[in-house]
Amino acid sequence: MVAEVSAHAAGVCLVTPLKQVLGTRAAKQLLEKLSLQTVGELLRYYPRKYDRRGKLTDLSGLTIGERVTVLASVRSVKERRMGPNSKVRTVTNVVIGNGAKQLTCTFFNRWNLAGQLPVGTDAMFSGTVSAFNGALQITSPQVAVIGKDDVVRRATGAASGRTLTASNAAQASEAAARPTGPERSGEQVKDAIEVVESFSGGIIPVYPLSEGITGALLQRCVKTVLDVLDEVDDPVPIQLLAERGLVDLTDALRDVHRPSAEQALDAAVARLRYDEALSIQLVLAKRRAEMRSCPAEPCPPIAGGLLSAFDADLPFVLTAGQQAVGKVIAEDLATIHPMNRLLQGEVGSGKTVVALRAMLQVIDSGRQAVLLAPTEVLAVQHARSLRSGLGPLGNSGELGASPRAIKITLLTGSMPVAARREALLDIVSGQTGIAVGTHALLSENVFFAGLGLIVIDEQHRFGVEQRNALRNKDPAGSPPHVLVMTATPIPRTVAMTVYGDLDTSILSELPTGRSPISTTVVPVGEKPAWLDRAWNRVHEEVAAGHQVFVVCPKIGDGPESVSKGSGPKAKPAPDDDIDLGGFDDDRSPSDGGDRRPPLAVLDMADSLRDGPLRGLRLGVLHGRLPAIEKDGVMTEFAAGRIDVLVATTVIEVGVDVPNATMMVVLDAERFGMSQLHQLRGRVGRGVAPGICLLVTESPDGSVGRSRLAAVAATNDGFVLAESDLQLRREGDVLGTSQAGRSSGLKQLSLLRDRKVIEEARRDAIELVRSDPSLAEYPGLAAMIAAVIAEERQEFLDKG
Ligand code: ADP
Ligand code: MG
Repeated sequence: MVAEVSAHAAGVCLVTPLKQVLGTRAAKQLLEKLSLQTVGELLRYYPRKYDRRGKLTDLSGLTIGERVTVLASVRSVKERRMGPNSKVRTVTNVVIGNGAKQLTCTFFNRWNLAGQLPVGTDAMFSGTVSAFNGALQITSPQVAVIGKDDVVRRATGAASGRTLTASNAAQASEAAARPTGPERSGEQVKDAIEVVESFSGGIIPVYPLSEGITGALLQRCVKTVLDVLDEVDDPVPIQLLAERGLVDLTDALRDVHRPSAEQALDAAVARLRYDEALSIQLVLAKRRAEMRSCPAEPCPPIAGGLLSAFDADLPFVLTAGQQAVGKVIAEDLATIHPMNRLLQGEVGSGKTVVALRAMLQVIDSGRQAVLLAPTEVLAVQHARSLRSGLGPLGNSGELGASPRAIKITLLTGSMPVAARREALLDIVSGQTGIAVGTHALLSENVFFAGLGLIVIDEQHRFGVEQRNALRNKDPAGSPPHVLVMTATPIPRTVAMTVYGDLDTSILSELPTGRSPISTTVVPVGEKPAWLDRAWNRVHEEVAAGHQVFVVCPKIGDGPESVSKGSGPKAKPAPDDDIDLGGFDDDRSPSDGGDRRPPLAVLDMADSLRDGPLRGLRLGVLHGRLPAIEKDGVMTEFAAGRIDVLVATTVIEVGVDVPNATMMVVLDAERFGMSQLHQLRGRVGRGVAPGICLLVTESPDGSVGRSRLAAVAATNDGFVLAESDLQLRREGDVLGTSQAGRSSGLKQLSLLRDRKVIEEARRDAIELVRSDPSLAEYPGLAAMIAAVIAEERQEFLDKG
C-alpha cells in the first residue's frame, strides 16, 4: 500500500492536490471538514501544540513520579462498580505485563474497557507512575492500542519489555509495516506504524480538530504527504536564511509536524514565524514604496488663508505635541507624494484640532477634505463640532456668511434621499469644503471635485481596503493625503504590522487644565453596599449640575422586538457590533456555563428609572436606535436635558460632552481593558474631575478582577494596550478570525515576536529597495500575493 502511494505521487509539491497523494476517503474528509485541498494547505495546518510523552520505559525500571510510556499486553481487566452515592461510578483495574513483570493501570468511570482492551491486546500506556497500596501503578493512562501480541513482537524486534530507542523504533515500524499474514489488513498495520512512531520520538503533534477528524487521521495524512514530498522551492533567498540563521522551508515543514527533537522543532517554528513576518512586512514595504512613488497635489501652507484665520481665533494655545505634529503634517501635505500618517493620541489629547488644521491647509490649496467616522453618532457630532469650531469660517451658504467660509456637508447612510442627493451634489460640485460621514462616503456614487485629504477617525474600524476605496474617490485627481487618527494606543508590534504602511505620530500630552479621571472597582459580590453608594453618587453628581453615563454590555430585547416575536432576531446595528475585547478568552471554561447573561441597556434603563435613579432624567442610547433618534438623544444629552445616559459602547468613540463627569460601567469585566480606557475618557473632558466606577461581580482573585484593577491603577493608555494585547488572541488584535484555514498569523505572535517582526521589517525594506517589483524573487512575490488575497477575502467577509 505504501509503495503504491509513492509510485502514484512522484513529483509531489505544495500545490499537488491531496487526492493525488492520500486515499480518496481521507482527502475527502480533509476537504470537507477542514477545507484542505492541497499538500501545501495540509502542511500549513500546523499542530496546535505538542504532547511530550514519557520515554518508552522498561516495566522494571519505573520510578514514582516519572512520566513514562510502557509497551505491554493486557493480562486482566477487572471492573468494579461503586455505590450509588459515590462520585466515581466504576473503577477498572487493568493489569498489563511483559514477560514476568506486571503493572496495574487504574481507570475511573470508563465503560467497557474489557471490550476495548481484551486480554492479549498490546498497547502503549502513557502516564505518571504512582504508588498505591505499596505497588506501582499508572492512573488514567493514555492508551494506544497496537494490536495482538505478534504485531508487537515483530514491531519491537521480539524484545517486548525492552526500552525502545529511536532507532529500533524506526526498525520496528518498518517491521510492522511488512504485512505477513492475510489476517492483517493494511489499515491495522498502518495504525501500528503510527502508534509506535508517535510514541517513540516523544514529541507528538496535537492538531486543531474539527468534528469527524481525529488526530490520528491528521498524523497519518501528514506522514504520507511528507514521505512523498519533493524538496520545496524555498521562497526566501538563501543568503537571507544564512544571515538570519534559519533552516530551509522543507525542513521547517517537516519538523513542525514530525519533529525529531526539540531543537528541530524550535528551528522549524522560528523559520515559519519569520516567513509570516516577512510576508506581511513585504506587503507593507511594497505599499509604502508604491505610495511614495505616487504623485500627489502638494498643498503647502498659504499665508492669509483659512488656516491662519482659524489659528488666529483659536480659543486656546496648542500643546507642544499638537504644534510638533502639526508641523510634520504641514510638511507632509506640502510634498508631491501623498501623506499616509497615523496619529495616535489619548482620548482628549486634541487630535481633532490637529486634523482640522490639516484640512484647512488643504482647502487653502483649493481642495476638499473628508472626515470619516466609524459611527453615525460620531459623524453627526463631528459635523456639529467642526461647525462650531470653525464658527463664521464654517457656515458657507448661511445668511451673512463670510465669502471665504467653507461648507461642511454631512453624509450618512440613514439620510433621506433628497438630503442625500443634495449632499452628493455639493460634494461633487466642489461646494463642499469638508465632507463628514460614515461608510456612506465609501459608496460607489460619491465623487469629489478635488479630494486633497482624507481624515479617518478611530482607524481600528477601517481596513486597508476601505482606505484604498476612498483614495479612488476622485477619479480625475491624484491620490489624496491620508491622516488616520486613533485614540487606542497601539502597541509597537501592532503598529509595525497592522498599521505598518503608515508613518506614525503620537500626541502624548493632554491639554492642560484637565483633571485626571479616578477609577474605582465596585465589587458587588463582596461589597453589595458599594453599589447603592454608587447610585447615590450619581444623584450627587447630577445635583452638582453634572451628567452621568451608565454603560452596559448589551442592548437587550426591547418590548418591540419581543412583540414582533416570531421573526428572526434583529441583526445588531454596526454601532453595537463591537468586540468586547478579550473577555471570552480569559475566563475559564468552567465558569462559562452558569454565568448570567450580560446586563442590557433596555432592562437597566427601566429598573434604574423605577429604582435607584428615580427622579433623574434618563436617556437611552444604543446602535439599534434609528440614526435620527440617536442624534436626538445626543443633542438632548449635550444640551443638558438628560441627566443620565444609559448606553452601550456606542459612546466609546469620540462622544464629547464636557459636562459629563461620571461613568458607571456595569458588568465591567466583560469589556476589554483598552475599551474601558476609551470609555472612561468620555468623562475626562471638562475641568471638573471625572469619576469612573467599574461595577463587577467577578470574584476577588479572578482574571477579570485583576484586569479591572489594572485599569483602575493607571491612566496610561499605552500600558493598558500592552496588557490588553497580552490577554487577547492574535486574531482579535488583527480583527481576523483564526478559524480553519485563514492563516493570518499562525505561528507569529505580536506579543512575543517583536524581534522577528523588526528583523523581517528591515529585510523587507531592503528587498523592496533593491528590487521594487521583486521580479528576481518569484517566491517572495507569491508570499505577498497570498497575504493580499487573504486580506481581500477578509474584506469581502466583512461585507
Ligand atoms: P480627541 O483627541 O479625543 O479627539 P479632541 O480633539 O476632541 O480630542 O479634544 C478634546 C477637547 O479638548 C475638545 O473640546 C477640544 O476643543 C479641546 N482641546 C483641544 N486642544 C486643546 C488645547 N491645546 N488646549 C485646550 N483645550 C484643547
Ligand atoms: Mg476625537
